[in-house]
Amino acid sequence: MTSPENANGQENLTTDVLVIGSGPAGGGAALALSTLGVEHMVITKYRWTANTPRAHITNQRTVEIFRDLGIEDDVLAQGTGHDLMGETVFCTSLAGDEIGRVRTWGTHPAREADYTMASPSPNCDIPQTFLEPIVIGHAASRGSRIRFDTEYVSLAQDPDGVDVTVRDRVTGHQYVIRAKYVIGADGGRSAVAADVDLPFEGEMDLAGSMNIVFHADLSQYVDYRPSVLYWVLQPGSDVGGIGMGVIRMVRPWNEWMAIWGYDINQPPPEVTDEEAIRIVHELVGDDTIPVTIRSTSLWGNNKMYATRYRAGRVFCMGDACHRHPPSNGLGSNTSIQDAYNLAWKLAYVLRGTAGEALLDSYDEERAPIGRQIVLRANKSIDEFGPIFEALGLLDAAEPEVMRRRIQDRAASTPEAAEQRVKLRKALDLKNYEFNAHGVELGQRYSSRAVVPDGTPQPEYTRDPELYYHPTTWPGARLPHVWLGRDGRRVSTHDVAGKGRFCLLTGISGESWADAASKVAAELGIDLVAHVIGPGREYNDLYEDWAGAREVGEDGCVLVRPDAHVAWRSAGAVDEPAAELTRVLAQVLAR
Ligand SMILES: Cc1cc2nc3c(=O)[nH]c(=O)nc-3n(C[C@H](O)[C@H](O)[C@H](O)COP(=O)(O)OP(=O)(O)OC[C@H]3O[C@@H](n4cnc5c(N)ncnc54)[C@H](O)[C@@H]3O)c2cc1C
Repeated sequence: MTSPENANGQENLTTDVLVIGSGPAGGGAALALSTLGVEHMVITKYRWTANTPRAHITNQRTVEIFRDLGIEDDVLAQGTGHDLMGETVFCTSLAGDEIGRVRTWGTHPAREADYTMASPSPNCDIPQTFLEPIVIGHAASRGSRIRFDTEYVSLAQDPDGVDVTVRDRVTGHQYVIRAKYVIGADGGRSAVAADVDLPFEGEMDLAGSMNIVFHADLSQYVDYRPSVLYWVLQPGSDVGGIGMGVIRMVRPWNEWMAIWGYDINQPPPEVTDEEAIRIVHELVGDDTIPVTIRSTSLWGNNKMYATRYRAGRVFCMGDACHRHPPSNGLGSNTSIQDAYNLAWKLAYVLRGTAGEALLDSYDEERAPIGRQIVLRANKSIDEFGPIFEALGLLDAAEPEVMRRRIQDRAASTPEAAEQRVKLRKALDLKNYEFNAHGVELGQRYSSRAVVPDGTPQPEYTRDPELYYHPTTWPGARLPHVWLGRDGRRVSTHDVAGKGRFCLLTGISGESWADAASKVAAELGIDLVAHVIGPGREYNDLYEDWAGAREVGEDGCVLVRPDAHVAWRSAGAVDEPAAELTRVLAQVLAR
């Protein structure tokens, strides 16, 4: 809807939701809002999407979200597959001594089943330069109005909306966009978060890193040990940076990004192309390889998170709220998950089917996750320390001493044997960075949009960071199992989602399904009910749902549009419609 020019002769626009930023958070919000049919607009500072590859590891939860939003196939088609992601190498250079290897991102045969069983979607590696155009392209095709070259300047809130002043960076023209709600997804230096005074804990710029994006055919050094990350231990690789030097695959095996640290307390280094080529040659360990530098940039490692994501009608998400190093590959993933969490809530509130207070559940649910991932990513940097220690490098500043100590581990001496054991343990610790399946999939929400069923939170039987524990405990992500429909396999995640609430029950719980249709009509909400069992629309192909649902066949599991469990009932009740009305009224703040 476009209104006439205002008194100052400026263009004056209105929209339901104004999204500021088109990165993973803003793009994810635009995609989810456009899929849900929410009228909105996106402004973004630059003329197009990300121009450097930055985020790449795209975890199963995020691919599941893309599946629900209908872009999973496009993302997987342009990403590098799970099978090429896992031989993570630690070495003195690509051509040099291989110190050790860790199978990562669930590619170890002993972990593969955990990943395959947990989700209908595989993880993949898709650099931000490839992902953002897919997300933004689909959002635009579904109705997002996207204004590139448009910069956020300031905002002013009143009880009914927000006036956002923006600047067209091509013409310099400034104008106001009036929105009912604003999403600040403007990244780690968020002006929106600062302007609405979000409270933060932690520190920025703890260490310095440089990215060098380059083109070089490195097949001879990598195609027999395919991975997305090659960690390089050389003199200086413990200064700044993210734990060690890294050569990161952008496209197999000729586009790359090197990450190298610098001392943030010194003036920022000037990285000329010659210097960048020198660093790349050092990391590769072969200065005869032709290298073309695409770009260089400097950035700071942060350890900072917002403790509140909402200020009135303004919501922040993504790096605007959680700022941390790329360790664990959680930044873009968490940003997209923030967007997915908020989008359905805005849709329900704007349609008038939920009360405003539903929006308070956004930061109740997402702020603890933001804190968790900021601390996790920073801890992963510290956990490089034991590798340096095992190799006796903590007091070895001289390159020659360093090289000798690394070689010492190959000796046939009791000291070297002990060193080898220590090194293996140190490398095992890196599972918390590279195989943290529990961190990726195990998010459990506690908020007003989740109704407890009176049972205690299930115990973790394995390490909660490394292993995902499926449960239908209210607040948890719906467990994935394969159901059957017309003989074909369908995930529980395909049955849920699509912007709707979903109730799952068994044949002896049919009264829940009948009640759900009645309650959906009364509340005017999208609520679908599915009876799972033989002769019904969905059957429990492998009896996996019976094992996963944690309620009786006559019980039910009520799932929110974002595939988190809203509530569950262990068995049948006398008045299922009254019970569902009570629960949904609480979840939807009505
Ligand atoms: C080397 C590196 C590797 C990484 N690897 C991973 C990984 O493997 N997996 C992972 O999940 N994450 C990874 N990350 C982190 C990831 O890149 C970020 O967490 C993610 O980009 C955050 O998304 P965002 O949308 O919040 O912010 P950004 O991507 O920073 O996007 C901010 C958006 O806001 C816009 N903007 C900024 N200011 C304004 C303004 N004033 N007005 C209008 N628009 C504005 C920008 O144009 C941009 O579109 C990595 C980061 C780095 C540096």
